[in-house]
Amino acid sequence: MVEIIAAEVAETSHWLARDHLDPRVMAAMAEVPRHAFVPAHSRGAAYENRPLPIGHGQTISQPYIVAIMTDLSGAGPGRKVLEVGTGCGYQAAVLAATGARVWTIETVPELARQAAFRLAELGYDGIRVRHGDGSKGWPEEAPFDGILVTAAASRRPPAALIEQLAPGGHLVIPVEHRAARFSLFGGAGDQELLVIAKNEDGSVRETCHLPVAFVPLIEGIEGKTGPGDG
Ligand code: SAH
Repeated sequence: MVEIIAAEVAETSHWLARDHLDPRVMAAMAEVPRHAFVPAHSRGAAYENRPLPIGHGQTISQPYIVAIMTDLSGAGPGRKVLEVGTGCGYQAAVLAATGARVWTIETVPELARQAAFRLAELGYDGIRVRHGDGSKGWPEEAPFDGILVTAAASRRPPAALIEQLAPGGHLVIPVEHRAARFSLFGGAGDQELLVIAKNEDGSVRETCHLPVAFVPLIEGIEGKTGPGDG
């Protein structure tokens, strides 16, 4: 799996502004047992470079995407990272395996509960899992050195996430492509991955724009935020 990721990173280097990923990220990808995060009937395909269904209409992302998002978020030893969209917990485990301290939020209560249980069982007991609307971030724990959103925002990255980014930090988020609504060929799956870097003076700049496909980020549902279940 890691060789395929390395080859695909080299192929897409013009989008990523790098032709290889941080060796710590590659080591984390090799270390985390992806088969432990997918349903039993998908285990045979766990190390293929493709997304897989995890129930509740959600998917575990393609390993290549998990690797580049981990790298672009700046995850590494001691870094404080927030993930929005816990899903099965795989991305959170990869972040933790780089040495980062991880907080993760999931809007589907059952997925949050299962991910918290699975992560603890696998020994990733430092990861904090909460059920709620991650588009509001995790204000009590802000600021974060990296924020990674694994569901696509419909227009712009939520303001709360940009606010909760530390100076020097990076927000990695898929957004619906601006042109998609006007394109004949564009559809609901037309998205790009943005990297928003916060400068020391608090201003932000935007890079990347890799084409991606994520499930939608559900924003602004009242009554979904609250104390964690996990
Ligand atoms: N990172 C996951 C895959 C995520 S799939 C993994 O490694 O398995 C996207 C997830 O985002 C889904 O589980 C979906 O329920 C969740 N999601 C969508 N909108 C959200 C929101 N506003 N806050 C938190 N989670 C959200």
